[in-house]
Amino acid sequence: MKAEIIMIGTELLLGQIVDTNAAYMAKTLANNGVDLYFKTTVGDNRERIITVLDTALNRADVVLTSGGLGPTEDDITRECIAELTGRPLEFRTDLYEQLAARFARMKRPMTDNNRKQAFAPQGAIPIPNPHGTAPGLIVEDTRGVIISMPGVPRELIPMLDDQVIPYLIRRFNIQERLFCRVLKVCGIGESRIDAVIGDLIQESNNPKIGLLASPDAVRIRLSAKAKSKEEAEQLLDELHKKIEERLPHGIMGIDDDTLEMVFDRLLQSKSWTLAVAETSTGGLLAHRLTVAKASQFRGGIVLPVNSPENQHKDFDLIAGSLRERFNADCSLILLSDIQQNMSQVEWRTPKDCTKWQYGFASPDDINAARCAVIALEHVRRNLLGVVDDV
Ligand code: ATP
Ligand code: MG
Repeated sequence: MKAEIIMIGTELLLGQIVDTNAAYMAKTLANNGVDLYFKTTVGDNRERIITVLDTALNRADVVLTSGGLGPTEDDITRECIAELTGRPLEFRTDLYEQLAARFARMKRPMTDNNRKQAFAPQGAIPIPNPHGTAPGLIVEDTRGVIISMPGVPRELIPMLDDQVIPYLIRRFNIQERLFCRVLKVCGIGESRIDAVIGDLIQESNNPKIGLLASPDAVRIRLSAKAKSKEEAEQLLDELHKKIEERLPHGIMGIDDDTLEMVFDRLLQSKSWTLAVAETSTGGLLAHRLTVAKASQFRGGIVLPVNSPENQHKDFDLIAGSLRERFNADCSLILLSDIQQNMSQVEWRTPKDCTKWQYGFASPDDINAARCAVIALEHVRRNLLGVVDDV
């Protein structure tokens, strides 16, 4: 079954609002086994809305729209659907009564233009909207189904989840859904991962593999189409295992795992506490551990680049002051030398002390984030007993 979405609203074209509905609709359709092939954004213009609806009906089984169902002059979605499908707008007493009841509950007078929302193309199935005035509309036309939802996200999201998706599953007898698992890899570039698992990406069809890079991690997204969660888990487990074999110890975590959470769990398993000191990261290490509510984190210090400790790379002095201040079992010290584009990391545990160094391109924000990620990833691998060249 092929679907297409049409986002209606001039403010979307002007960049005045961010189109979060499209992302939400796309994700929800994919998760429920509906293939989405096109997304169009169109302004509040009758001719252009009709043109994009017409094009969409020619190539999709279901066309979902967002926006333009409100009471104002520029809300013309229902008129456009009526015109395109040749189903004149009818006044619906059932819809009018629902609207009147809503205004009565809110103790607000109903304006004339609200009456507009009681009109629907002939034969349309209304979708109740418990969070707003505009009901959604389903028009089962000969060429395909048009489903219109209000643009306000707080109204659209529950309407899509609770009513439209169940309708689509029933109407098109959808058996398979999409189940995803994200494997996160840190400190290794996208191109290197691609070189290592490129053949799997090429040949895997179910589950499919997608790569998405960010300064934080490369996400390897596995998506399986299956009739049940159990069936999907089995497919995902098989591919996950193959990728793990290609990247031994390289997968930091899955789905919502973050590097600092995983790191904290490793420290917990050893009952070690931690203190950090850092330069050039603006306190990112401490910030990330704080946001992750890392239970083993005892505190940190942020040193300016021109501090004598950083300039002389005096790890012993810094480790000493961390010990004195926080009395933690381990210390992670990240010192950067902007002149030399170099970061040095020292990691002390009750058992040993390890140092690494690595270069970076320029001292901007992304590199600060990279420094923090690489330092944390190094330590994660060290705690797992892996020696390699991240
Ligand atoms: P209303 O009854 O409020 O007029 P509507 O169905 O007519 O709803 P629009 O007028 O197109 O929808 O949009 C109403 C508001 O909803 C916009 O001002 C905006 O804040 C939000 N909105 C609309 N479309 C989107 C979208 N695609 N993504 C995120 N927010 C949106
Ligand atoms: Mg509106």
